[in-house]
Amino acid sequence: MSKKILIINTGGTLSSVMKENGMAPGLSTDDMLSELRMVSGDADLSFMDFLALDSANILPRDWVSLAKKIGEEQSNYDGIVVIHGTDTLAYTSSMLSFMLSNIAIPVVITGSQLSMKHPVADAMENCRLAIYMACEGYPGVFVAFNRKVILGSRASKVRTLSFDAFESINYPNVAEVSSLGLKVNENVVPDRHGIFKVKSSISEEVGVIKMYPGIKSSVLSSISKAGYKGVYIEAFGLGGMPFRDDDFIGALKGLMDDGVAVLVGTQCRYEGSDLNIYETGKRAKEIGVMQAFDMTTEAAVTKLMWALGQTDDMDEIREYFKVSLCGEVDIEGHER
Ligand code: ASP
Repeated sequence: MSKKILIINTGGTLSSVMKENGMAPGLSTDDMLSELRMVSGDADLSFMDFLALDSANILPRDWVSLAKKIGEEQSNYDGIVVIHGTDTLAYTSSMLSFMLSNIAIPVVITGSQLSMKHPVADAMENCRLAIYMACEGYPGVFVAFNRKVILGSRASKVRTLSFDAFESINYPNVAEVSSLGLKVNENVVPDRHGIFKVKSSISEEVGVIKMYPGIKSSVLSSISKAGYKGVYIEAFGLGGMPFRDDDFIGALKGLMDDGVAVLVGTQCRYEGSDLNIYETGKRAKEIGVMQAFDMTTEAAVTKLMWALGQTDDMDEIREYFKVSLCGEVDIEGHER
């Protein structure tokens, strides 16, 4: 029997057309029907035009409504494919991984570097893979792009122009397409535990600070003044932050005393942070910051938004960062 797959269109280049002010979403699923049918194999497709946004315009509230919609529809389908702009696709795939943990069907997010209507586009190939992966039945949130399937919480956009725009960061690909067909690495699909429930409460009061030599600790006072509840810091290397002249780490302690959740990771894309090695990291560990280890920035920021939406209790928030919820982090491998 053919698998029932729902295609949810949110916009992005895949469904864009040239308009007066540049490329912008303009194709509905109806406009792309013949192309989508051409790559659907045996699947029985249904369509939903949910948003028509360049993904630079995606807002946290869109994640909430998308997760709720997927939650409503998941029992009616064998799999769901989400068409999304590539720019913030990895934030959406990360956030949906937290909101939809324990979902029983595949949710596969895809997009493309060229519009579906472009004669040499990657759009059809990416949709073909996403639909195929959605039919395979592995539950969870995934990204399908350029003949690779990546765990939703490990995806990151790494190239602006090439078709190979996404990588799986610090984690193996879930699946790859070769002349042998689609090979799924079952060992890296995280196990699901417990019942499925959409957990879509989030806090938007989260800031991100990237370290650079000369950063002033006064930026932190603007974080608490603005009423932020959490901040993610992309620190140097293994997680180093300065304390010479202007004591950034000391100021961070003040921010934590004001009740702000502080999560520290690294601005290096690969291999993650470890605060146990250098004094510039150990001092931060001693004041009790939470650690992002080998999480992508996309997963770290969305996990912080999500955790702050689940509870106001700082001890509980810390608990969320001591475990991997959907394969987003390898704590044992980095906590020496
Ligand atoms: N600006 C587009 C978007 O993210 C880029 C793309 O889809 O490739 O919506």
